Amino acid sequence: MARHIDILEHPQTAIEVASATLAEGLPIGLPTETVYGLAADATNPAAITRIYETKGRPRFNPLICHMSDLAMAERYAIFDPISRKLAEAFWPGPLTLVLPLRPESGIHPLATAGLDTVGIRVPQGFAGELIRAFGKPLAAPSANTSGKISATSADHVDDDLGERITLILDAGASVVGVESTIVKVEDGELRLLRPGGLAAREIERVAGKAVKRKRGAAPAIEAPGMLASHYAPGAAVRLDATDVSPDEALIRFGTPEIAGIGNAVAVLDLSPSGDLSEAAANLFDFMKRADATGAVTIAFSHIPDEGLGEAINDRLRRAAAPRA
Ligand code: AMP
Ligand code: MG
Repeated sequence: MARHIDILEHPQTAIEVASATLAEGLPIGLPTETVYGLAADATNPAAITRIYETKGRPRFNPLICHMSDLAMAERYAIFDPISRKLAEAFWPGPLTLVLPLRPESGIHPLATAGLDTVGIRVPQGFAGELIRAFGKPLAAPSANTSGKISATSADHVDDDLGERITLILDAGASVVGVESTIVKVEDGELRLLRPGGLAAREIERVAGKAVKRKRGAAPAIEAPGMLASHYAPGAAVRLDATDVSPDEALIRFGTPEIAGIGNAVAVLDLSPSGDLSEAAANLFDFMKRADATGAVTIAFSHIPDEGLGEAINDRLRRAAAPRA
């Protein structure tokens, strides 16, 4: 069983115990503003191997390396002017930049799946402080079994991975609720590798140029979070529902008209007022709650594709994709 430490009540203990656990090469459940991460020393191959094993994650899927600040990030990766501008504007925050790795950086090739680039992010709050205290970058994918719904609370982490890890830090519910937005600057172009907790239009505003979106499925090595089926509950998922049947749970956004709503197994409201940030924060928890009702299918009402809706719809399309 994993030990839990509440970081608000015991911040110093949390830093000390987490640093000691990480130094042993063990992964920990780490709260960040996006989702809970399964974090380990990005320079230690045994520690990184434990991340892949604990999640059952394919090893061709690179991990995001988390830094305490831009100065630390610059020691590991080479920044072009646009990437630096984005880092200055949005770090700490839900933005991951894919950048050329510095030779001899010390980040182990297992963390980058052998690529000559590295995905880097500076998380807000406690996670950044822990990295500063630990002194090394932390590789951290979401703290859930690969392909399943991401964890946005310490209890989610415990339910899924509690038997396989020794420490979970608890900071309550993740504020953003979806993973980071991933961008890469290539030949002066800004490519969106994954929509996430920072709306693409915010990035465009700072960069002064449009982000390019991929059409169709991205190559697995660059965007494996992008493999068709991911974020999958046990139940089937149906999108853009305008009605609901008696064996379905309904997850609504705003207050749409839904036929048959009185018969649904459960009805959950992502954001009655139609606020996409609130919906993102509730998304994964509500998917788990709807799944726990035993409903055969989870039906979602339409969610607009603007702002954080792009990330929400990306996750929902993968949750609805045919399972392998
Ligand atoms: P997560 O599953 O949230 O840890 O996100 C990891 C994702 O970051 C991967 O699935 C990739 O899409 C992306 N990523 C990480 N490192 C790289 C990299 N060097 N090049 C391209 N994408 C990367
Ligand atoms: Mg994940």
